[in-house]
Amino acid sequence: MNAHTCTTSLTQQLDPTQVRQAMALIEPAQRIALLAHEHPDGDCLGSALGFAHILRQMGKTCVPACADPAPSVFSFLPGLEMLQNTLGDEQFDLVIALDAGELSRYGSLYEQHRAFLDQAPILNIDHHISSSGCGQVNIIEPSAAATAELLVLFQQQAGLPLNRDAAMCLLTGLITDTASFQYPSTTPRTMEAGAILLQAGAVAETIVNPIFRTRSLAQARFHAAVILQAKTSCQGRLIWSYANDEILAATGATANMDANIAGSLRDIEGVQVAAYFKHFADEPELTRVSLRSAAPFNAAEFCMRLGGGGHPRAAGVTIHLPLRDAMTTVIAQLEQELNQL
Ligand code: 5GP
Ligand code: MN
Repeated sequence: MNAHTCTTSLTQQLDPTQVRQAMALIEPAQRIALLAHEHPDGDCLGSALGFAHILRQMGKTCVPACADPAPSVFSFLPGLEMLQNTLGDEQFDLVIALDAGELSRYGSLYEQHRAFLDQAPILNIDHHISSSGCGQVNIIEPSAAATAELLVLFQQQAGLPLNRDAAMCLLTGLITDTASFQYPSTTPRTMEAGAILLQAGAVAETIVNPIFRTRSLAQARFHAAVILQAKTSCQGRLIWSYANDEILAATGATANMDANIAGSLRDIEGVQVAAYFKHFADEPELTRVSLRSAAPFNAAEFCMRLGGGGHPRAAGVTIHLPLRDAMTTVIAQLEQELNQL
């Protein structure tokens, strides 16, 4: 069977024309860079490393790269030791940009290699509704629960190899972006993609334990401190809290130990919007905001208006103000919107 017309059991497939166009970029390329967005999560890391494992089996030389180091909970990811924080000599025939649709979202990788990336052949694969596409070929499907789901479809439709290492990485993307298949973004197709990865030898427990269960005492204290100082308004429909260097020092935690703090705030009874602000001394001029919401509040639309983006129920934005000013501004806007709902 022709590699490009391989049939799969998946209910909804990628546009075959786009798969063909993407394969036309991949096939002649020998050295391929795979970019994960800055402040990486399980989906961008799992997608970059997972696709690298697939392409290596096809004889390609692959360099997965990310501006920031992977949080320690992802240490189990096969191939993580190959992740670079620069594109080195820029000797690449193709760049595959994963899980974000604007080059600026690749952070310092883009800043360091702007001249190269602005003219490089790029294949962009992403599932964010706010993405405009930064490649010659853009496979952007907001209906996918994770970029990793799109990569499973791609692998199946193009008839590419899938070993256990690739499957572990891609299942990590599915599991992290759906919180273990809990979010409504999980579709029958997401489960089908998961089944394919289990068949290829991925083990969910190896992923779920470090990411969702095990935590250090410092991390538990850090989360407790953030929740302890949370404030609410709009009769408890809005909740917000923050992390800064003081809180890290008091709890013995590090900044990358904040996985799912925003989600914990959102899960408090009656909350429609949770905002989690981060401000650290290494970037004193800016504050990062994570928003989590319940329907009908659209966090992606809210963040896009401030220059950020994301998903309808989980989005983020960087505000170029110190912590207090950023909190005052964003909370006032959120209150105004919530009072109109
Ligand atoms: P988190 O709050 O976990 O950092 O991000 C939630 C979602 O919003 C993720 O899908 C992430 O990629 C997206 N996101 C976070 N910050 C930004 C941003 O500044 N710009 C854009 N476009 N998306 C963001
Ligand atoms: Mn994702």
